[in-house]
Amino acid sequence: MRADMSAEDHAKVLAAADAMTRQLSGSRGRIWASIGVDFTPCTRNCKFCSLGEEWGVHPKPYELSTGEVCDVAREYVEGGAAWIVLRTTQDFPIPRLVELAREVRRRIPEHVELVVNTGEYGMEGARQLRDAGYSSVYHVVRLREGVDTVFHPADRESTIKAARQAGLGLTYLVEPLGPEHTDEEIAREAVRARQLGAAQVGAMARVPVRGTPLGGCCQVSTERLCRTVAVSRLAAGKRAKWVCVHPPTPEALRAGANILVVEAGAVPRDTGSGQGKWRGFGMAEAVDMLRSAGYEIAELSKPTGTGEPAAVGQMSPQRQPTERPASTACCGRSSPKKARGGTT
Ligand code: SF4
Repeated sequence: MRADMSAEDHAKVLAAADAMTRQLSGSRGRIWASIGVDFTPCTRNCKFCSLGEEWGVHPKPYELSTGEVCDVAREYVEGGAAWIVLRTTQDFPIPRLVELAREVRRRIPEHVELVVNTGEYGMEGARQLRDAGYSSVYHVVRLREGVDTVFHPADRESTIKAARQAGLGLTYLVEPLGPEHTDEEIAREAVRARQLGAAQVGAMARVPVRGTPLGGCCQVSTERLCRTVAVSRLAAGKRAKWVCVHPPTPEALRAGANILVVEAGAVPRDTGSGQGKWRGFGMAEAVDMLRSAGYEIAELSKPTGTGEPAAVGQMSPQRQPTERPASTACCGRSSPKKARGGTT
């Protein structure tokens, strides 16, 4: 993982990760379809998240209706999604997540996993989520947890362990990756993902969002993101057939990644209102990118629709993405002293 790795060694790490994923998955790729259920200004104020209340980026609370969530989920499934992920802000009520799961689960086939990505819960919450129809969770200890967030790593691990004990699967990415994160920090999370039994791993870059405290930082380089994906892949061992990169990065599909993400609704990486495809990247683009990298999508054997969700609810059109170019000089930021307020 060393930042000073030679170009030759860097290429070897990526090639090893790429070969391992292709062998384990049979050169199949998958699509992770994430639905941001609510725009609730969140009191935890993570420094990278557009949903933090203090940043005032999304001042008006909004929540998708059950019908909207079900419609988007169905469209994604028809387009070939392998996972439908319901993502919420930190304090979103578990009973509402239970209600949503029951309704979505009735409308999607059994082979499609329903995933929950929400705040912290214990055994009782984990059992309720499992019984409602979720089969796995997305939950992580964030890079610089307790520095860029108000959480302690133990809080996150406690939730993950409750989920695992309830029989729920785990997806765990190294995130939100910025240029300031050290090799040691990245390696720690890659190893933690394995120790916690993650079946899907990978890496997600932090997308600077205007108006958030880290909005002025540059985005991690593609090279660093690819190497983090590769390290995550290699650290996870044979248990993990599926490896994710986000935002979609074609180079990472040659570095061990075989999952791409599409998003609708509330996106913590954007100031937009969540209508339509995030950054114009939808199911068709994900399928094309995976196929261009030599991955076939098993879930596409029986497509029945376009796979693009219709506009949802009263939301206004999504504004332009707020990413700064990867080539922007780094802010040179080091660990801030004050801990403040994960997307969930
Ligand atoms: S990342 Fe999660 S906990 Fe943090 S501000 Fe955003 S919604 Fe709240």
